[in-house]
Amino acid sequence: MPNARILVADGDGAVLQTVTWLLREHGYDVRTAASGADVPAVLLEYTPDLALLDVTLPGIDGYQLLERIKSDPRWRELPVLIMSGLPPEEAAVRALGLGAADFVKKPFRVKELLARIQAQLRMRTILRSASEALSQANRELERVRGEAEHRRQLVDILHEVSEDLSTGEIYHLLARRVARALELTHCSVILAKAGERPRVVATAFEQGSETILELELERYPEIQIALESGRAVLVEDVATSPIYEGARARWAAAGMKVTVRSVIALPFALQPNQAGVFFLRRSVHEPPLTREDLEFADTVVRAAVTAIQRAQALESTKADNRRLEQLARTDPLTRVLNRRALTERLAAETERVKRYESEVSLLLIDLDHFKKVNDNYGHLVGDDVLAEMAAYLQGAVRAVDVVARYGGEEFVVVLPETGSQGAQAFAERLREGVESRAFTRGSGGTLQLTASIGVATFPAPGIDSPEDLLAAADQALYRAKAEGRNRVRA
Ligand code: GH3
Ligand code: MG
Ligand code: MG
Repeated sequence: MPNARILVADGDGAVLQTVTWLLREHGYDVRTAASGADVPAVLLEYTPDLALLDVTLPGIDGYQLLERIKSDPRWRELPVLIMSGLPPEEAAVRALGLGAADFVKKPFRVKELLARIQAQLRMRTILRSASEALSQANRELERVRGEAEHRRQLVDILHEVSEDLSTGEIYHLLARRVARALELTHCSVILAKAGERPRVVATAFEQGSETILELELERYPEIQIALESGRAVLVEDVATSPIYEGARARWAAAGMKVTVRSVIALPFALQPNQAGVFFLRRSVHEPPLTREDLEFADTVVRAAVTAIQRAQALESTKADNRRLEQLARTDPLTRVLNRRALTERLAAETERVKRYESEVSLLLIDLDHFKKVNDNYGHLVGDDVLAEMAAYLQGAVRAVDVVARYGGEEFVVVLPETGSQGAQAFAERLREGVESRAFTRGSGGTLQLTASIGVATFPAPGIDSPEDLLAAADQALYRAKAEGRNRVRA
């Protein structure tokens, strides 16, 4: 090992000179110390590869120095050769016992001294590379452990995600689990509709909450970049990243103390016009986010997007089904329940009455001389009037009441928890309302109408079923018509 640095300490100036010359002749770099007290400073400054110490040194002797060197973690690995003219049995045993690498008897033979020095330096080289290999193996082990841990968490997360969850639940789950896996202070999923700049109304799913935010994208440069480029943004240090130049100036002007150190904005595409950003943050009190964190989050999100899309498709199918169902229950002209839906509701209401020993009333409302409206103003005006009548009824009833189109110009109002008296009083109010109302007559003008109303209540003698209830109301309505119209009969 030529060029190796050797520290030589010897109290005898002649020996020091000879050894120094000899070692330099053989290509070594040499630094000397004439007293034991000088040695620690030289060690620090020179960092030798090997030390050659005489036992009898002025100041601190060789044994003491050896003890000090071996008890200091900085020098523990330094091979120390002890030289001495003392009887070798005693001196060698003591020196080796204190941790010396070797013992050289004085006066030394040149070849032997050089051979021993070479042997120690070779050993040191081998030891060094072995310990480097060991620490590299340790680092590799740590990395593999970390990766295995991430993979395990990934599998866990995706296992949970693939269950039958709604999109909102998936976002919550992802935010919560990624935050936990990466030890984040904040993790949110931000959904944005494309083309809504500069303000984007976004839904943010944080761990534990869901908020509708109005984000000013200018204030979130990393989200903006991620959304526009479709690429992930990793900012290890918010305080120095050029991305935040403008933002930092604003924060400083506002006297804002920024507690975020590190940010990842990870975009993902859902439907053509909807994009999302996974927004991960660590505070200044925590280690910065790294490329490995980004890769982990990216893998989670890529895999989760499929599940999110599946959930979205399912949700929109369900919403379509709900719309279809709603459509099938609604009268297209008047937008109140149709006769089929009314039949279902009546069945449910009469069941409820039986269970809770309550009552339900029904009004059958028929517009008087409605044929004339059609004859005088045409069918289209007739249609508009029917729609207006339905809207009037819908606005007049309580939330628990049901309005339905029974057919033609006949409507039904179901009044749960209402007896005959209450129902008749309410019917009377409706009748007055129709009578005093100015119905819109097409493009201009108004028209007046009246209505006849039949009232029946369930249960009552001879009224045991929804059909009985409707029949009783129909008979009452017939009486109202027969007795001159524009009146309520029960
Ligand atoms: P009253 O009930 O007072 O005996 O007289 P009315 O003229 O209302 O007589 P009826 O109940 O026999 O006739 C109902 C009329 O309502 C027949 C039809 O022209 C009209 N009608 C029923 N459905 C609709 C509709 O959807 N649109 C329009 N424009 N008219 C309808
Ligand atoms: Mg009729
Ligand atoms: Mg009529």
